[in-house]
Amino acid sequence: MSLVQQRLKFQKSLASWYAQSQRPLPWRTQPSLYRTVVSELMAQQTQITTMLPYFERWMRRFPDFTCLADAPVDEVLKLWEGLGYYSRARNLHKLARTWVAADPKPRTREQWQTMPGIGPYTSAAIVSIAFNEPVAVVDGNVVRILARLTHDTRSFKSNGEAVKAFTPLANELIYPKNSGDHNQAMMELGATVCTKHQPQCGICPVARLCAGRHHPDLAQIPKIQRKATERVEIDRAWVVRKGAVLLHQIPASAGQLAGQYELPKLDALAPVKPTAKPILSKSRSITHRRIKENIFRIEAPKRTPHEHKWVALDELESITLSGPHRRWTRVLLQEISGARFLGDPCAPQDESDWPESLR
Ligand code: SF4
Repeated sequence: MSLVQQRLKFQKSLASWYAQSQRPLPWRTQPSLYRTVVSELMAQQTQITTMLPYFERWMRRFPDFTCLADAPVDEVLKLWEGLGYYSRARNLHKLARTWVAADPKPRTREQWQTMPGIGPYTSAAIVSIAFNEPVAVVDGNVVRILARLTHDTRSFKSNGEAVKAFTPLANELIYPKNSGDHNQAMMELGATVCTKHQPQCGICPVARLCAGRHHPDLAQIPKIQRKATERVEIDRAWVVRKGAVLLHQIPASAGQLAGQYELPKLDALAPVKPTAKPILSKSRSITHRRIKENIFRIEAPKRTPHEHKWVALDELESITLSGPHRRWTRVLLQEISGARFLGDPCAPQDESDWPESLR
């Protein structure tokens, strides 16, 4: 019998497992439309454990759409700092303003898809959880579960292609009386049991309906072709003079990061690359790109280039630095003298007292 033919068993097993095993996440224990919307946007590209403290802090400062709509965008971005993908914060802010002004308020999936930053996935999540509209939410977790349940070993060119292929099945399996919990249960199963590398079939609530569970290497299902890794190297400058650091302010034309600060690119300040080693080198991955950033200590330029600003070291915490730049700046400041910036009067005040690598 196919999975669709056994959908009642599937829905029941999944629902009773979810009722007992779900993690008590704050948007589940105190559900509301607003909390659903914020959690869905925050959870995109971010792990739940990473976003939890941000979510709690956000709710304390912006407890509803109106508070968020009334806030200045700079404050919204500041609270988002560290989560990355800032277009989500800008969109959430715009969405709150649009929602407050809307009359009547959006309710259906079609209406939600016209809201800023809301695409097919997020609109399905919002309307199923907040309004019980029977529409399936299909992400990587759901694709993985369905591919394994049906033992589908096809190869997909991209995540998007796989999502498209499994959406009809996901919609056939949805439990219409409680589609919000059904969708959340699917995502929870993918996040905690049917995980990418170590599926725990022994405790899986739908194991007896799973055609793929005996596959010798479940990590290979689904098969999604990955783009080749692209390696990129960026040189940046660390310039400190008279208790201030030179930063680049990202221009409005740059889109989602507009207005934020970052360590300047080296070639904007120095015509020749220093012969000394970088004082800090860090690598990170964004999708298929592996980016290595080298930070060099250089002398202050004679003129401050356009879009660059001197920011007092003791004001650094109050400006919005893009995520990795905040981390690197903190590391560099601690190396100069963590004590100095934590208010220790005995800490070195003069650059000549700093470690040689940073002087
Ligand atoms: S039985 Fe195993 S492979 Fe099948 S859905 Fe459950 S965890 Fe995934």
